Amino acid sequence: MTPSRQPAPAPAGADTVAEKRDGAIVVTGAGGFIGGHLVRDLRARGAGPIRAVDIKPLHEWFQVFPDCDNRQRDLRDAAACTETCEGATQVFNLAADMGGMGFIETHKADCMLSVLINTHMLVAARESGVERFFFASSACVYPDYRQNTTAAAALKESDAYPAMPEDGYGWEKLFSERLCRHFGEDYGLETRVARYHNVYGPHGTFDGGREKAPAAICRKVIAAKLSGRHEIDIWGDGEQTRSFMYIDDCLHGTRLLMESGLSDPINIGSDELVTINRLVDIVEGIAGIKLARRYQLDAPQGVRGRNSDNTAIRRHLRWAPSIRLEDGMERTYCWIYDRMKGGALPRAVRR
Ligand code: NAD
Repeated sequence: MTPSRQPAPAPAGADTVAEKRDGAIVVTGAGGFIGGHLVRDLRARGAGPIRAVDIKPLHEWFQVFPDCDNRQRDLRDAAACTETCEGATQVFNLAADMGGMGFIETHKADCMLSVLINTHMLVAARESGVERFFFASSACVYPDYRQNTTAAAALKESDAYPAMPEDGYGWEKLFSERLCRHFGEDYGLETRVARYHNVYGPHGTFDGGREKAPAAICRKVIAAKLSGRHEIDIWGDGEQTRSFMYIDDCLHGTRLLMESGLSDPINIGSDELVTINRLVDIVEGIAGIKLARRYQLDAPQGVRGRNSDNTAIRRHLRWAPSIRLEDGMERTYCWIYDRMKGGALPRAVRR
């Protein structure tokens, strides 16, 4: 890990830029899962003013806070990025066209077009004199060849090279990571890059094709419970391994990283490794049912085994994600159950 460099001389016109600053904190992708939670967390800590931006119309945002400056913008457009960064001191750039394996394996071009968001946001942040820029990267930057067994070694940051990331989505993330690095080196923009590993929790997608494994499994188990048809489809043989990080840990790590002096990418992920079958066991336990499992061997599965090596985050941030999967999944299950049932929660899972 290299410490951040000293900022380069301010760009021409910086005085005017500084005068125009209102100290706004920008969150892009604020209508999405992590972005919505991040806005809530920033508000709770008294940060602000907060400018929340997403391409979706406001009524589709998972969480909306009326006291924020909420804007519907397509950040693939350079002018929208310039307007978004105007007067801002910090940017959390989370906007991306993405989803779970079912989405990223079939929408590689769409995923790669997020490069427009990241490129224009970095240029706009630099031109506006933004002090600190956060980029949400992903464990998908790691090469397939390090993840081809269920017992693959946990991924440490240096494993990203030699590069052979997830096709489409992973290449875009890796490219944008490097863009952050060089904006830091060449222009003195302070950048922070988190490699998130499978984040889950309430207020996220659980159907429609973009959902990820934890939410999808909750939905399937709840559907089985509500319908009385006690069976479940599982993508692959269920023995593929992953780690899953609860949203509160994600927010905590993001805050520590943003406040740190670390400019190199760092894993923010749980190292509690489980098989998908174990994840299903956990959700069945929460629901209080047992299901017949039907394995769909031709469904998208991603890599065979993936875990987060948390040596670096422990060393640099003196912290690592620790919320138990069973605890986070219960909260997630309750939230999805509530949506699917239309308001009523079963007593057994009510918090
Ligand atoms: P999400 O899909 O819920 O949120 C992303 C948001 O970006 C969406 O609301 C979407 O409408 C918005 N967006 C897409 N294109 C846009 C555009 N052109 N202009 C403005 N907004 C646009 O996803 P999330 O899970 O909240 O992920 C947030 C970030 O974290 C993403 O960059 C994602 O790649 C990264 N990440 C997430 C995970 C995870 O497990 N959730 C893991 C690794 C990395």
